[in-house]
Amino acid sequence: MDLYEYQGKQLFAKAGIPVSDGRVAKTPAEARAAAGELGGPVVVKAQVLTGGRGKAGGIKLASTPDEAEARADDILGLDIKGHVVRTLWIEKASDIAKEYYLSLTFDRGARKPLYMFTTQGGVDIEEVAANDPDALVRLHVDPLEGFHPWQARRLVYGAGVSDPSEQKQIAAIVGKLYDAFTRFDAMLCEVNPLIVTPDGEVKALDSKFTVDDSALFRHPDIAAMRDTAAADPIEAFAREKDVTYVKLDGEVGVLGNGAGLTMSTVDVVTFAGGRPANFCDLGGGGSAQGVVDALEVITRDPQVKAIFFNIFGGITRCDEVAKGVLQALDQMKLELPIVVRLDGTNAEEGRRILAEAAPPNLHVSPTMLDAAGKAVELAR
Ligand code: GDP
Ligand code: MN
Repeated sequence: MDLYEYQGKQLFAKAGIPVSDGRVAKTPAEARAAAGELGGPVVVKAQVLTGGRGKAGGIKLASTPDEAEARADDILGLDIKGHVVRTLWIEKASDIAKEYYLSLTFDRGARKPLYMFTTQGGVDIEEVAANDPDALVRLHVDPLEGFHPWQARRLVYGAGVSDPSEQKQIAAIVGKLYDAFTRFDAMLCEVNPLIVTPDGEVKALDSKFTVDDSALFRHPDIAAMRDTAAADPIEAFAREKDVTYVKLDGEVGVLGNGAGLTMSTVDVVTFAGGRPANFCDLGGGGSAQGVVDALEVITRDPQVKAIFFNIFGGITRCDEVAKGVLQALDQMKLELPIVVRLDGTNAEEGRRILAEAAPPNLHVSPTMLDAAGKAVELAR
């Protein structure tokens, strides 16, 4: 689950990482009131779950409450990479002398949290990694040993921070970031920029915070931060139905049982010259209710023109799945063409059941490639 900047900063503050005082605002009037309460110049920041807000015009300084109201009016409703701005964060403006970058992310390859730190902050970190890789210091933490203060010093000295006061403040923030990361079950904590003010004070000016979905059950306060109004309505519906659903951009709806098969199905649709509109993973089961739920999710996506249902019968036998499919089609009105590929345990029996009772919009295919070709053709 990705958090908004202001939510990530709340968690930073709980871990003792310095952030600026601010207020949430949903309207220009609220932005004006917030600026009045904070006093002095403020920065009006679009809260959307994507980066690069500054470049997109989603971050503006305002020296008076009047100006904050006007900037809020400019930014609210703005479309930033497909995310419409509905919430603002009004923050006491900071003077910036330097912009650094600090992150802690989960490196799945190494199975360890990975720190990255560079004094070249404020820009896309991918740019630094590409243009000046030596400027980016990387350091893994062994999760069993935990964080040790020498690791913070290695990051700070490695990146060439020479001011002793900065060294001390950054090292402290590095340690607190590890606390935040583990305490809140994060997958990513990124501070870009981590600023140094002209007075030499170091603080987090931005936050990108991702919490492990599987750990949300032990963080009800974080789970409650989810902005259901901003979420994709189909994704929200899928979550409600407990269906694994991922939105893509093509026209063939993909349904498979098992993550591996579902991924291969996405590939084979592409190989057959089509584009998947989304994919759903039924998991191991093939119960009628599971099929109905998944089909309901898939067909809510108006981009879907045909459905490819790819089953490999292992423990769940194909004849069972075939019955599930027929029951599902009985329970719901499905007008789109659907191509079913059945293979594995009792495949012939399953195909026979479908062939006998299937409605005209259901096509049965014995191989993945055949089925994909058919689905792609029907989606045209
Ligand atoms: P992002 O573009 O989505 O990464 O949003 P950031 O929160 O990182 O802000 C982008 C840029 O806006 C920063 O790198 C700063 O240069 C500028 N900025 C943000 N807040 C302030 C502030 O309080 N004062 C000043 N002077 N600039 C700010
Ligand atoms: Mn940023």
